[in-house]
Amino acid sequence: MISSRDRDLGMGRAITRRDFLNGVSIALTGTLFGSIALPAPGAPEKRPAFNPEQDPGYYPPALTGMRGSHEGSFEVAHALKDGGALDLGSAADTGERYDLVVVGGGISGLAAAYFFRKAVGLKARVLVLDNHDDFGGHAKRNEFHHGGRLLIGYGGTQSIDGPSTFSAEAAGLLRDVGIKVKRFSTAFDQDLYKSLNLSRGVFFDRESFGADRLVAGEGSRPWPEFLAEAPLSEQARNDIARLYDGKTDYLPGLPVEEKKARLAKTSYRDFLTDMAGITKDALPFFQTRTNSFWALGIDAVSALEVWKMGYPGFQGMDLGTTRAETREPYIYHFPDGNASVARLLVRTLVPDAMPGHTMEDVVTSRADYARLDRPQEPVRVRLNSTAVRVEHTGRPAAAHDVKVTYIRGGDAYRVRGGACVLACYNSIIPYLCPELPEEQKRDLSYAMRSPLVYTNVLIRDWTAFKRLGVHSVYAPGGYHSGFQLDFPVSLGSYRFPAAPEEPMVVHMVRVPTSPGRPNREQHKAGRWDLLGTSFETFERSIRDQLGRALSGGGFDPVRDIEAITVNRWPHGYAYEYNRLFDPDWSEEEKPWVRGRKPFGRIAIANSDAAADAYTHIAIDQAWRAVREISG
Ligand SMILES: Cc1cc2nc3c(=O)[nH]c(=O)nc-3n(C[C@H](O)[C@H](O)[C@H](O)COP(=O)(O)OP(=O)(O)OC[C@H]3O[C@@H](n4cnc5c(N)ncnc54)[C@H](O)[C@@H]3O)c2cc1C
Repeated sequence: MISSRDRDLGMGRAITRRDFLNGVSIALTGTLFGSIALPAPGAPEKRPAFNPEQDPGYYPPALTGMRGSHEGSFEVAHALKDGGALDLGSAADTGERYDLVVVGGGISGLAAAYFFRKAVGLKARVLVLDNHDDFGGHAKRNEFHHGGRLLIGYGGTQSIDGPSTFSAEAAGLLRDVGIKVKRFSTAFDQDLYKSLNLSRGVFFDRESFGADRLVAGEGSRPWPEFLAEAPLSEQARNDIARLYDGKTDYLPGLPVEEKKARLAKTSYRDFLTDMAGITKDALPFFQTRTNSFWALGIDAVSALEVWKMGYPGFQGMDLGTTRAETREPYIYHFPDGNASVARLLVRTLVPDAMPGHTMEDVVTSRADYARLDRPQEPVRVRLNSTAVRVEHTGRPAAAHDVKVTYIRGGDAYRVRGGACVLACYNSIIPYLCPELPEEQKRDLSYAMRSPLVYTNVLIRDWTAFKRLGVHSVYAPGGYHSGFQLDFPVSLGSYRFPAAPEEPMVVHMVRVPTSPGRPNREQHKAGRWDLLGTSFETFERSIRDQLGRALSGGGFDPVRDIEAITVNRWPHGYAYEYNRLFDPDWSEEEKPWVRGRKPFGRIAIANSDAAADAYTHIAIDQAWRAVREISG
């Protein structure tokens, strides 16, 4: 029985929200992966062959419902970590031998395949293994089809951030795969929302602020005027306005370096209350401001970090130029985010799996998943395959071969490689490679990625946003801490829905935090929160939040929500150095620097290896790893 509240939200409505692959619910696929105990020898023949990618209907970007770390992608790895019974002896030797086996088909793994061929030659044989049903890792494409029209969203990695600062290797890779960053200055319509008088807004919810209210004009109206409409105490309003408009030095008399040292060890929350003296009533307005960029609330991010990104309170402190002031415009965005970088890499590695030739045509190109893994091709990308063991044949120092065992469709297989690049997560490497020195395993385990969710909601039109005068909304007390109309990018034959009467993808961000606890504890709790939350809970919260925030513009969640894709990333941003909780390590002491040392014929790539959650960093680490095994 559906409750009346659920009915009002449209919970019973038949939107596209269930994962179906080859006509079989993903939940069933999940049971294939449910146990890591390998079948007894001979059993694999009794099972139907597992080759979902060969099905003409196999097209993961168009799946809706729970995506990101989808069911069926993580169970084997979790069982490995939990000490599942691994009978590697029964793994079937496929007889394949590659020059390089790459574990992880994210940007770093694909970049490793690219750099290896560049170093060794295009005839080099490379196998890329990934546990997901799609390639790209966090660089995830979400497609929606509405009335014959294609709408594209990004399910992870958002934009190419600050390309002029990239290393020669990362910039060169982007160029080689066909990306001309200048092209975005016309592809990204930087005036659209301004021309429609849309601004940023804040949605104050009744559970946190006593009343539901959407206030438009954040940052574009004078603060006292904007705050006058907010359900906040007078003291909170005055304090917030003072913080944004004031020029107070909250650490007077200290030299700049000392100020920075103090701010580095002070959370932004403590800066606000203890240094800037704002009332505790104002804290809920700020608590989740940092969620999207750091995947932590203001209690666990240092004041120095937020100063660099232009947060308020530091205008009078004479700290120098911020990163926000020197940042390039944030316009380097494909409609599917950096999934297009992954797709262009795949085009370079397996050309006929990604039809087309330009950065424009890749936007609407339909990947042919059946062509990713073919014996005659020098590069093969094998999806739905979780590596469970990587070991040298013989002594690591003298070995010429690495054996890689993986699970696919519930069965274990073994391939060989002349070398192996681990472009997965640092934290799984100790379980994959028991032969690594214990100290290195400890260092690798330090990398605890932070969990977050990118949700995409297809709505029938965006007239409610137009009526309310907002294009993005910060929701400090919300289940998702913010949502926004998609970036207005038209590229190739893809046209952004520029008229409010057109359907639109709304992008929402949720970060499961537990304020007040150390950062790593928050990440751990958040990961289990994400894995334990059903799609139904997400859907209900999304309908409730959008319905309430946009009701003044006539938005009706029953009528207006057409499809939902929740991209959950329990292992999201790479762990980054946190000044509040981590020791003051020298460069050589940093666990990720020590952990990424090559071991025999095995090298370690991925963004964890630099503790920096960026696409160009994932590429840089691939380049370093390849140099270590091909030099
Ligand atoms: C939500 C989100 C938004 C982001 N936005 C931006 C942005 O706007 N700009 C930017 O520059 N960066 C951004 N980043 C960071 C950027 O996405 C990453 O730094 C980069 O994509 C990481 O690439 P990677 O290959 O190192 O890791 P991943 O993308 O995580 O790829 C690793 C792959 O290895 C797979 N794997 C793990 N273990 C195994 C195994 N045992 N067997 C087989 N496969 C395995 C994983 O499942 C995954 O598919 C964002 C990250 C997230 C999560």
